[in-house]
Amino acid sequence: MINNLNYEVIIIGGGPAGLTAGLYTSRARLNSLLIEEMGFGGQIANAEQVDNYPGFPEGISGFELGQLMHQQATKYGLNTLLAEATGIDLREGQKVVRTTEGNFTAKAVIIASGSERRKLGIPGEKKFTGKGVSYCATCDAVFFKEKSVAVAGGGDAAITEALHLTRFASKVTVIHRRDQLRATPILQEKAFSAPNMAFLWNTIVEEIEGGDLVQRIRLRQVKTGEESTLDISGIFISVGLKPNTDYLEDILPLDAAGNITTDDRMETEIPGIFAAGDIRHNSAMQAITAASDGATAAIYAQKFVTEVDK
Ligand code: NAP
Repeated sequence: MINNLNYEVIIIGGGPAGLTAGLYTSRARLNSLLIEEMGFGGQIANAEQVDNYPGFPEGISGFELGQLMHQQATKYGLNTLLAEATGIDLREGQKVVRTTEGNFTAKAVIIASGSERRKLGIPGEKKFTGKGVSYCATCDAVFFKEKSVAVAGGGDAAITEALHLTRFASKVTVIHRRDQLRATPILQEKAFSAPNMAFLWNTIVEEIEGGDLVQRIRLRQVKTGEESTLDISGIFISVGLKPNTDYLEDILPLDAAGNITTDDRMETEIPGIFAAGDIRHNSAMQAITAASDGATAAIYAQKFVTEVDK
């Protein structure tokens, strides 16, 4: 229960960037509120195994990593609220963060609202979401035991998801629009040696069809134009991430992809408003770089608040 409406720092988003920012601002004894819409951990919470976050030589589940970050940040007094941020207003030296649970003011705001999975935008995608269309293999692979499934995409996330699915499904077909994967070489090596993984190159999914549940997908070979169908019980769509910045359109300039530009202190063009993590222009989109952004943003937000208070 949040009684206080006024804070020194408000952080929007509870992934690695936001939780690290909260760890730093609360350890700096700034009265801080972190607003999160869904659950703590952000995109990394969907990763079955994280092998590239330093400090965990055996790897760690993304969910556990998110929980540990939350535990560490709140230990130092970070206030948290489950609500959706809907906008920011600027008023006489104050920033007002509008949320579905009311309005809160702060001297500095750190935007770390992360990203969500991009959609393909094809017929059947929406209709069959939860009925064979999924955006999270860690969450849903168990429903496809001994079934044939497809994965759309060729990046780190798609191949990580496909590898996870090989432990449940009888066959996993990766459908990629080019003839080369974007995923990191170590993931490619694993994928090419998985016995129940197949690849359809230069191919896009045009439609998802079925009855109550997904039954097949319609495909097109982009080089030859040849059309085909593939019978599957599920399709996992993993074609990149879209920044959660729609609610900021009227206050901050966004780049063509919807990301926020900052300086090297993570400050936006509005003094006292910082951005960190996946939503930042040219973000490396890694949990560790998001955490780094969060720490930098918090340190300069602290300096900003101190200056305002002088
Ligand atoms: P990504 O690296 O942007 O890859 C997106 C993939 O989807 C690309 O292969 C792209 O094709 C394809 N794609 C995009 N739009 C498409 C469309 N409309 N139709 C068909 N295919 C489409 O995104 P990601 O894999 O979600 O990863 C996001 C970030 O998280 C990356 O920085 C990644 O390194 C990081 N990540 C890391 C790990 C890890 O380290 N294990 C795991 C997950 C994510 P093209 O290749 O042709 O562009």
